[in-house]
Amino acid sequence: MPPVEARAWVEVDLLALEANLALLRARARGEVIPVLKADAYGHGALPLARFLCQRGARRVAVAAVGEGRTLRRGGVEGEVLLLGSLHPLEAEEALRWNLVPSLSTLEAARALAARARALGLTPRAHLKVDTGMRRVGFPWEEAGEALRAVEALGVRVEGVYTHLATAGEDAAFVEVQRRRFQRVREALGEGYFYHLENSYGLLLHGGENVRVGLALYGLVPGFGLRPILRLLARPTLVKRLRPGDRVGYGGEYVARGGEWLATLPVGYADGLPRGAVRHVRGPGGELLPLAGRISMDQTTVLLPGPLPLEAVFEVLSPDFGPTGLLAWAEARGTIPYEVVVHLSRRLPRVYRYGEEVREVANS
Ligand SMILES: *Cc1c(COP(=O)(O)O)cnc(C)c1O
Repeated sequence: MPPVEARAWVEVDLLALEANLALLRARARGEVIPVLKADAYGHGALPLARFLCQRGARRVAVAAVGEGRTLRRGGVEGEVLLLGSLHPLEAEEALRWNLVPSLSTLEAARALAARARALGLTPRAHLKVDTGMRRVGFPWEEAGEALRAVEALGVRVEGVYTHLATAGEDAAFVEVQRRRFQRVREALGEGYFYHLENSYGLLLHGGENVRVGLALYGLVPGFGLRPILRLLARPTLVKRLRPGDRVGYGGEYVARGGEWLATLPVGYADGLPRGAVRHVRGPGGELLPLAGRISMDQTTVLLPGPLPLEAVFEVLSPDFGPTGLLAWAEARGTIPYEVVVHLSRRLPRVYRYGEEVREVANS
């Protein structure tokens, strides 16, 4: 592996991303739409969008207009779908950056149509339908009426979709939502691009056109998917402790004396869940315990012996073991989504395709 000139960084494995995409495409009967919101769940939306478009993704999805703008500024040309529900105040920005918003209110549809007329652009949108999540979307029973009203405003509705509330949690309710969406589809007719499942929906129930985030990033165990992200760090200091030395805030770790300690320059501000991470992996893959508490910017690790400052520690591993993201999330009492989106942007992102470093992104 060629050296990376950094003391701490996030490494994204594009080869693993490619394998995950292939696996998901083999499962879906239609299109796989990569979901790149929240900076691609912390993985870096722009490098991933570029790579996925090269690999045949015709459209990607994000949540916020600003996220779409970042992709456009970075040269992404395919369709960029804005999930959620367009706010009327965002209509102009969405049009200017050629982003396709989701509509679940007539207010937003009117704003989109009006701004498009003023700018001389075509208003395009996907219609969001609520089949049971009760968050955004036109009620499924009124989807036909909503479609006609939106189209009457001059908006070109290209796609229609809904979102599952209980994929991976309540299969019976998934079925209810799928049946409702089928009714919507029958009522609205062909000529629209219909999409439905998310990661767990696709993996557990199959699907046609799907929007996937978590599975693309390999954060779902048991389906042959692989996490694509690692967090690596080099120690800024390695030293031997004396008997009675206390390490870190609260002096929680008390040394017997003679232990070797490495200080890694990553902490909870980098996204390590404080109180949940108990180990990292040493340069040989060995599991090493932390000594004391994680600080904002630093973490202290016990070593079996001295190591040079060039040594690379794997703080977060691309697997489902004790140093993987799912273990972090579980220890923290939360879901992997929440942990992964909090990996700090101050860590450089290194994009690797096999042995080749394709890109280094610093924010
Ligand atoms: C985030 C999101 C997805 C992707 O969900 P995963 O569980 O990460 O696959 C799909 N659709 C919508 C509307 C979303 O907001």
